[in-house]
Amino acid sequence: MLQEEVYRLFESEIENWQLARNKYADLEASVSKRIEFGDFGIDVVCNPARIRSTMVEVQRKLEKMRHLPNNSQAAAAVDSSNDSCFLCSDRRPKEQKSIVVGDFEVLVNPYPIFPIHFTIVYKKHIPQQILPYFDEYLYFTRNLTNFAVFFNGANCGASAPFHLHFQAAEKRYFNVVGDYSTLPRRYFETVEQDDKLTLTSIRKYLRKAFVISTADPLRAKVVLQKYFMPYITDNMLNLICCYEDGQYRIFVFPRKKFRPWQFFEEDPQKRLSISPASVEMSGSFVTIFREHFDRLDANEIVDIYSQIS
Ligand SMILES: [Zn+2]
Repeated sequence: MLQEEVYRLFESEIENWQLARNKYADLEASVSKRIEFGDFGIDVVCNPARIRSTMVEVQRKLEKMRHLPNNSQAAAAVDSSNDSCFLCSDRRPKEQKSIVVGDFEVLVNPYPIFPIHFTIVYKKHIPQQILPYFDEYLYFTRNLTNFAVFFNGANCGASAPFHLHFQAAEKRYFNVVGDYSTLPRRYFETVEQDDKLTLTSIRKYLRKAFVISTADPLRAKVVLQKYFMPYITDNMLNLICCYEDGQYRIFVFPRKKFRPWQFFEEDPQKRLSISPASVEMSGSFVTIFREHFDRLDANEIVDIYSQIS
């Protein structure tokens, strides 16, 4: 069973790979707060485990990014100036082991947002994209039933937009998954429904969110293309999928913009280093700066969602 294998991989990496062990320990030191919006909440997390290098280097990189075009590809070009791709097998740390599944490999993410966090990486260095690999995306969801498998479009949050990958973390950490079960019916509007599939929109949810529920992978793909093709083409889509009660539940977040104006703000007192991706769309804002964590309040969250979604 794939799910048992990935849990075993996680345990052995924590035991044998010091970087991963340290970063998952850092994650335990993260602080969080919850901001309530009536029937649902949004979490804000200050997560030191996301820091990839020294604070001075991080600050320098962020300063560069503030002057680049507002998309993940431009941001990644800064990182890949030394021609390194951290997902390519010949450039990964030798301690990083993997589980091979068809043309993909499952890896432990050494810069975690979640207590168990995997990256599911295509074997070859090809651009981030969803449609040609949608079957594989659902395959992982179907076989990792404790998990949500998520996808960040190449222009709205993918940290490696030039190397195809998904990520996975236990689904209980995704607010949207819980909200789907607990929100009152008035939040939901049926967009399309037949005996095999339902496409629902979640309304008054601060961000635009849709849910495809179906047991049929082919129909899911047809509906995804029918309603979201411009976002797929522009690489401006975040997806979170889990498998429950014999159905795929695919949460779709069409995106208007990658980063909010607060990211680019000249005044450090107003700046917020927030780069919204699937995790933020699901309902958790992640920052590495304590000061930004303190400043993120309900007004900022409403404003950020309205700009990016
Ligand atoms: Zn690569």
